[in-house]
Amino acid sequence: MTKALPQGSTIGILGGGQLGRMLSVAASRLGFKTHIFEPGANPPAGHVADVVTTAPYSDLDALVAFAKSVDVVTFEFENVPADALDALESIRPVLPNRNALATSQDRIAEKDFLTGIGLKVAPYANVETADDLVAAVGTVGAPSILKTRRFGYDGKGQSRLKTTDDASNAWDDLGNTPSVLEGFIDFSHEVSVIGARSQSGEVVCFDPGENIHRDGILHTTTLPANLKSSQRMDAVILTGQILNALDYVGVMGVELFVTPNGLIVNEIAPRVHNSGHWTQNGCVIDQFEQHIRAVAGWPLGDGKRHSNVVMTNLIGDEVLDVETLSKDASAGLHLYGKTDAKAGRKMGHVNKVTGPAT
Ligand code: AMP
Repeated sequence: MTKALPQGSTIGILGGGQLGRMLSVAASRLGFKTHIFEPGANPPAGHVADVVTTAPYSDLDALVAFAKSVDVVTFEFENVPADALDALESIRPVLPNRNALATSQDRIAEKDFLTGIGLKVAPYANVETADDLVAAVGTVGAPSILKTRRFGYDGKGQSRLKTTDDASNAWDDLGNTPSVLEGFIDFSHEVSVIGARSQSGEVVCFDPGENIHRDGILHTTTLPANLKSSQRMDAVILTGQILNALDYVGVMGVELFVTPNGLIVNEIAPRVHNSGHWTQNGCVIDQFEQHIRAVAGWPLGDGKRHSNVVMTNLIGDEVLDVETLSKDASAGLHLYGKTDAKAGRKMGHVNKVTGPAT
C-alpha cells in the first residue's frame, strides 16, 4: 500500500482490549472508522469502535467478512494465529507485517533475529525437552530464568532457577512446554523505547522511559529515564535498527536492560505498548495516533516530548480511587471502561505531568 488512506476509511483492529480502545479513539480523531475483531464479549474497545465482530480467531468466515469490511488490518496483541493471518492477508494488507509478528511471537526466533543484527540479548538456549534443559543449564548456568517460547506476558510463563538444582522444578512449573533458558542479567534498571516506522521507511522514536514492575506487571514509567545521553542515543539507534531490519510499519515497544556493559534487549512487542502510555500527555502526537498514522500511510508525528511524565497503571481495585485521582488537575486520567476490577487486571492509568521536558 503506498497511498495514504483518506478520512472515512476503516481501520480493522484485531483485539478489543484497552490498547484497541485507545487505538480506536486515536483513529476516530483522524476521521477514520474502526472495526474491532475480538473473541471475548463486551470488549473495552467495543465501547468506542464503529463496529465489533465477536468471533474466535479460528472462525475463518468471520475473519474474511471482517477483512472485506475494512481498508487495512492491524492488531493490539501479537498472538494472532497463522491461519487467521493467511485469511486476512489474502484480502487486505496486515500491518505490521507477518514476519515481525512471527519473530516476536517466539522468544527463540526473536533472540536469533536480534543477535543476527548485532544486538545484545541475555545468554540463551532452546529447551524442547527435559534433556535439553540439562544441556542448557550446562551452557547458560544459574541464576537463570526459564520462559515459555510463546504466549508469555506480564511475567507469566516464567520460572526462576536460583541454582542449577531448580531445573526440573522449573520445567514442571511451566508444564513441560517448549521454552528458552535465559541467563539472569544483573541490570541497574529497565527502560523501553517506543519506536515507529512509516510506509515510506521514516523512523521516529519517542524518548526512552524508565519502567518499574510490581508483581511482574508494569507499575510506573518515568520520563525522563535515568540514562546518559550516549545510552539514550544507543537505545534509539538500536530501535531504529530493529524497525528497519523487519521492514516494519507501525509502532513497536522495545524493552531494554541497562547494564555497565551496555543495553541488553529483553523483548520486543510488535504493537503499541503499556510503557508508551505516557506519550498521551507528554507528546503532541502519542503512540496510538502514531500507529494509526503509520498503518494508514500518513506521515508520522515528530516524537518530541514536551513534558516530564510519570505514568502509573491502575491495577485491580486501585481504579476505585477515581474520586481522589480525578482531583489532580495535572494528571491525565485514562480509564478503560472495564466493569470487573479483578486483582491483577489493568483497569486504567494516570499520566502525571511533573513539569516541562528536561
Ligand atoms: P519478560 O516477560 O521477559 O518481559 O520478563 C518480565 C520481567 O522479568 C522483566 O521485566 C525483568 O524484570 C525480569 N527479567 C526477565 N528476563 C530477565 C533476565 N534475563 N535477567 C533478569 N531479569 C529478567
